[in-house]
Amino acid sequence: MNRVLPAEEPITRSVAYIKESGRRLGLRKEEIDAIIHPQETRIFRLSCKILGKAVTFSGVLCLHNNARGPYKGGIRIAPDVDIWETVELGRLMTLKTAVSDIEFGGGKTGIRVDWNYLYKLYDKKPQDREFEKIVSLDIVEYYAQIYRDLFSKHIYIPAPDMGTGPDEMAFIYNETMDPASVTGKPEGTHGWLPGRKESTGYGCACVTRISVERIMGKDISEVSVAIQGFGNVGSYVAKYLYESGAKIVGISDIFGGVYDEHGLDIEKLTEYSKRFGTVVGYEGKSISNAELLCLPVDVLIPAAAGNVIGVEEAKKLQTKLIVEAANVPITLEGMEILNEREIPVIPDIIANSGGVIASMEEYSHSLSALKTRREEVFKVLEEKLGQALDDSWDIADSEKIDLCQAAVDLAVKRVYQAMKNRRYI
Ligand code: NAD
Repeated sequence: MNRVLPAEEPITRSVAYIKESGRRLGLRKEEIDAIIHPQETRIFRLSCKILGKAVTFSGVLCLHNNARGPYKGGIRIAPDVDIWETVELGRLMTLKTAVSDIEFGGGKTGIRVDWNYLYKLYDKKPQDREFEKIVSLDIVEYYAQIYRDLFSKHIYIPAPDMGTGPDEMAFIYNETMDPASVTGKPEGTHGWLPGRKESTGYGCACVTRISVERIMGKDISEVSVAIQGFGNVGSYVAKYLYESGAKIVGISDIFGGVYDEHGLDIEKLTEYSKRFGTVVGYEGKSISNAELLCLPVDVLIPAAAGNVIGVEEAKKLQTKLIVEAANVPITLEGMEILNEREIPVIPDIIANSGGVIASMEEYSHSLSALKTRREEVFKVLEEKLGQALDDSWDIADSEKIDLCQAAVDLAVKRVYQAMKNRRYI
């Protein structure tokens, strides 16, 4: 890809880790490059008519790797989407599906939406959720019309990510009328999966529990936790950890956070956040996002945006364990500092893979039309996540490397083998 683009992709964390895995596994440079770079990247323009006005959006569709199965990855709608972010997220999906050993590849869609511009254009107040919903549904409807064939032929199977949810996935289904063409569909829609909505958060809570037991030798009910982000992932991680008895002392969203050293009541906080659209103002001490990251807690769970822990943050953190619920919340340089400080990190490609594991269940049940129950989905999540952690810890122990590198080693080995089998390399 670098040969036809005047700009080079920055060295991201996954690029650095794949290079290191490739080197240690004895792969040739061309083979490593073939695993790093996307098979296809499309840049598109969506000309939409929203509430009577014509508006144009730019987007990126990254079909990263399909050696192990159809390209799989969410649709992100955000103001800061760019080509390299979408490529990085597509690559993470390739690693994620490989480390959890499910038969999907990796892909991603990013659509850039400048909300401030839209609020002004339509004379709306910022954070008008109803207006935002109209916009995101319209955008996804136009997007689905363009890429209908990719979804219908199961070449790329989208799902929700930041800025999209089950409602937008229903619009994709409306376009294809094929329940297996999209995952993360809302309850009651043909092919929906009980437990899919909660799956990323539930999976992350399982991974946290297992890691606390293994690394700290403690039960989850004995630890304190801080969570950044209270959207789909953050709110369900909080719910399931709270129900397991963990003491959640801090939670934040994009507007700020709350802290209570005795533990927050997550049920009440959820009600509050639904009512006011933020956790800010809930009983307890108001804190900033920067303060939340540096709280003296046993476990820190970044479950919001990427790159929130760089060098400066990594130097100041007071946690004993980080579980990456968000995608790439820690930069490459931040990881180096955390490794020096011996603060263990459970990588995103395991910690937040509950969503794509549930998507695999949703896809296979959509193909067969056989219904399943939430408890069965959660059981599959626990088994798959437990296996991915055990396999990665085995490599980390035998090779004397950190868990993040070990998980990438495992993924690269599997992707490489599939690419070899299919004569991609
Ligand atoms: P969401 O849009 O539902 O919620 C995001 C939350 O983070 C909100 O509470 C928002 O206020 C907060 N936030 C956003 N930017 C922030 C910032 N700069 N500082 C502090 N808080 C901020 O998104 P989500 O679906 O919960 O996704 C969160 C993260 O998890 C993303 O990195 C996403 O890629 C990753 N992820 C999501 C899924 C999924 O199934 N939804 C699966 C895997 C990974």
